[in-house]
Amino acid sequence: MEKWNLIIDVAKCEDCNNCFLSCKDEYVDNDFLPYSVAQPKHGPRWMNIMRKERGEFRMVDVAYLPIPCMHCDNAPCITKAKDGAVYKKNNGIVIIDPEKARGQKDIVDTCPYGAIWWNEEKNVAQKCTLCAHLLDDGWKEPRCVQSCPTGALRAVKVEDSKMVQIIKDENLEVLHPEYNTKPRVYYKNLYRFLKCFIGGSIAIEVAGVTDCADGARVTLFKNSKKIGEAVTDNFGDFKFDSLEENSGGYSLEIVCEGYEKKILEVDLTTSKNVGTILM
Ligand code: SF4
Ligand code: SF4
Repeated sequence: MEKWNLIIDVAKCEDCNNCFLSCKDEYVDNDFLPYSVAQPKHGPRWMNIMRKERGEFRMVDVAYLPIPCMHCDNAPCITKAKDGAVYKKNNGIVIIDPEKARGQKDIVDTCPYGAIWWNEEKNVAQKCTLCAHLLDDGWKEPRCVQSCPTGALRAVKVEDSKMVQIIKDENLEVLHPEYNTKPRVYYKNLYRFLKCFIGGSIAIEVAGVTDCADGARVTLFKNSKKIGEAVTDNFGDFKFDSLEENSGGYSLEIVCEGYEKKILEVDLTTSKNVGTILM
């Protein structure tokens, strides 16, 4: 049977908040029984966008991580809620029944992703329904996906076996696999948020003037083992990304034709700009 999945490309998210706003537009003041009662205007963020800045001047980037309910196949919210108040539809979507869940504030704490919000006025726990009411009506995607201008969000309804192939082909990951909740939300380019980089610039001196070293070869070593190679661009810049935070010592070997080779030791805690290295 085909089931819904959401694919989020971290590299394409620009924090425009259209997904968040379209979710508000759909759910504030609107009940969609049996799936949801109205979402409060302020407070809950069924699509919650996290922000992370990496690096140091002048090599800095920012990544955004949209976090909705993961519609887990092994969902603690389902097992811990009383009276079957949280359930999974045959199409993969996890729903908090707004009638059965009334007064069950504990449900909020069952989600390790923090995807469940308490609605004080309605006395009920709430979260993203993947716009189940619209999908029932034949919509091909939820409102957040429809409103994303960059293509960072993609909803796919496929057999699980087909999804396994998509995960492999597109190199998708889940957030916090260690929770073992089997999410149906997958991420692309998650390294932009979770991993770090070593970057810098190579410069040369020509006739007393400092210039960018375009085409210098930079090799990254960890415990004497080569783990990456980069060639500097027009600005003399290089970058090694997808490195583990707090992963300790690395060596950079810089080779630039006509100059003596240089070695630089780097102790990596979080993204690091080693600055300009003059050959
Ligand atoms: S993300 Fe949280 S609320 Fe959503 S299904 Fe998983 S455990 Fe439940
Ligand atoms: S609409 Fe798309 S680009 Fe904008 S914040 Fe949401 S996921 Fe990111």
